[in-house]
Amino acid sequence: MNTGVVEQIKGKLDIVAVISEHVNLTRKGKSFWGLCPFHAEKDASFTVNAEKQVYKCFGCGEGGDVFSFAMKVKGLSFAEVLEEFAQRTGVVLERDRTQANRQERLSANKAFFSAGKAALEFFTRTLASDEGRHARTYLKDRGLSDATIHDFAIGYAPEGWDGLVNYLKKRGVPSEIAAGCGLVIKKEKGGYYDRFRGRVMFPILDLRGEVVAFGGRIIGPGEPKYINSPESPVFEKRKLLYNLNQAKRVIQEQGAVVVEGYMDVVSLANAGFAGAVATLGTALSEDHIRLLKRFTTDITLVFDGDAAGRKAMVRALEPFLATGIIPKVVILPQDKDPDDMARTDINLWKTFVSEARSIWDFMYDESFRGRDPSKFEHQSTILKDLAPMIARENDATVRDLLVERLAVRLGLGIDTVARQVRSKNEQVVLSQGQTKDYTEADLVRLMLFDEQAIQAVKTLNLNLEFKQADTATLAAYLIEHGNCILNDAVCPDAIRSAAAKIIAQGPYEGDGAKALRDNISKLLSLRYDRDMNRLQGLIAEADKTNDKTRLRGLQNEKMALVRAKRNIHTIVAEALEGK
Ligand SMILES: [Zn+2]
Repeated sequence: MNTGVVEQIKGKLDIVAVISEHVNLTRKGKSFWGLCPFHAEKDASFTVNAEKQVYKCFGCGEGGDVFSFAMKVKGLSFAEVLEEFAQRTGVVLERDRTQANRQERLSANKAFFSAGKAALEFFTRTLASDEGRHARTYLKDRGLSDATIHDFAIGYAPEGWDGLVNYLKKRGVPSEIAAGCGLVIKKEKGGYYDRFRGRVMFPILDLRGEVVAFGGRIIGPGEPKYINSPESPVFEKRKLLYNLNQAKRVIQEQGAVVVEGYMDVVSLANAGFAGAVATLGTALSEDHIRLLKRFTTDITLVFDGDAAGRKAMVRALEPFLATGIIPKVVILPQDKDPDDMARTDINLWKTFVSEARSIWDFMYDESFRGRDPSKFEHQSTILKDLAPMIARENDATVRDLLVERLAVRLGLGIDTVARQVRSKNEQVVLSQGQTKDYTEADLVRLMLFDEQAIQAVKTLNLNLEFKQADTATLAAYLIEHGNCILNDAVCPDAIRSAAAKIIAQGPYEGDGAKALRDNISKLLSLRYDRDMNRLQGLIAEADKTNDKTRLRGLQNEKMALVRAKRNIHTIVAEALEGK
């Protein structure tokens, strides 16, 4: 039987070899020592134990196995590391998809990557050639050093229609592949032409360092100023940030600053500020934030000081509410932009960034602007303005602090503000429950990767709510034995293989904490509904037989249920905190 791909892979990999690719290790007795890659240090406090196949840093406390090391050092998800290691060791992953499909997808992606790599060569060579003189002048005029141009692999797409088409043909890249990732465009009458012409080219890398797309900026005046590659199987705009791959180490140490375009990022790096990333023509999404969260929770957003910039800030808060991160905000004076400051006064930029304030401070100021909190109608406008947003803040502690601060500024009691926030909050929970259907499979998957999920399901007695036989069995086993199924010698084969299949899919993609809350809330709410129905029946019966004592008891029970349902958010949060 093919159980425990994770264990199989671990058996074939040597943690010392894997870590040596990133850290200089020296042997001392039974263990290996080196400088920790996760915090800055001068003396080695990072140690690898070959016997136990684990690492531990005595400086910052980081530690784990070969999987957690690769996830952390490369900023990859569990699923991505699993895929990489599986390829490296030749272990076959069991997935729902058939092996053939997976291989097909992987080799298609590989073809896109090599098309991207070939195009990158073409663009950088053209920039260095005679044809690129004009573009080189343009880049020099913008103050970019040769080192920056080299670091960002900036290139040039020549005028004309077939420069890249011909180059790719020579390099043996099939035209359909080049068209599939948007480098060239198919003509109606047959043949292909270059998408990017007469533009400075910025390669866009994913976290594996593969070239998945390009951004092209026109030289001089003209429209459109910027063109990006269209989305493709390897390029999803809402899941990629320009420069994140190159800047991830810096971001891990100093936090991330999100700016508007790649020119801002490049100029800032050119001036010595390396921790900036940019979205690719889209707003910052929840996916982007989760991507950044792999490296830092210290995220700073930059806005213009005009009215449009202020509106943008309100919109920007939205995707953060579910992620547990409170971004900081820099509001630029009206005549400044990052590119500008990078060229003229980088210290001013650094001061702005170091003085960034929490987005909530700005939201409050914005809502209080021009309003008098001593006037009743202004009080209620401000309350209506901020309460729904506070209600959507997922972190209960932050929510309480926000309520308290708003109460103080409005001169109202905390209870009054809290009530307003709470009433919004219930609407949020209910609407989530109605629109997003839970799946038992999701919850079991969360439980397999998160001890907290198991505890919460146990505390709330939710294992009885599972309807599907296989998930119910797995959930019951998890509650009794914990989530170390793969190492558990007494675990029945059927359960072990069911768990292995789910584990091979990797942890829940996306916001696991939110998915956990949603799934548990939904399941609990279903149980409350069922109990309520049962009580209604009993109450009707007691009413008919005129049994007053019983009726009173049942009605009390019903009231308790109504209260519990109203507080479902808190009950779930407390169960998750292990209370
Ligand atoms: Zn460390």
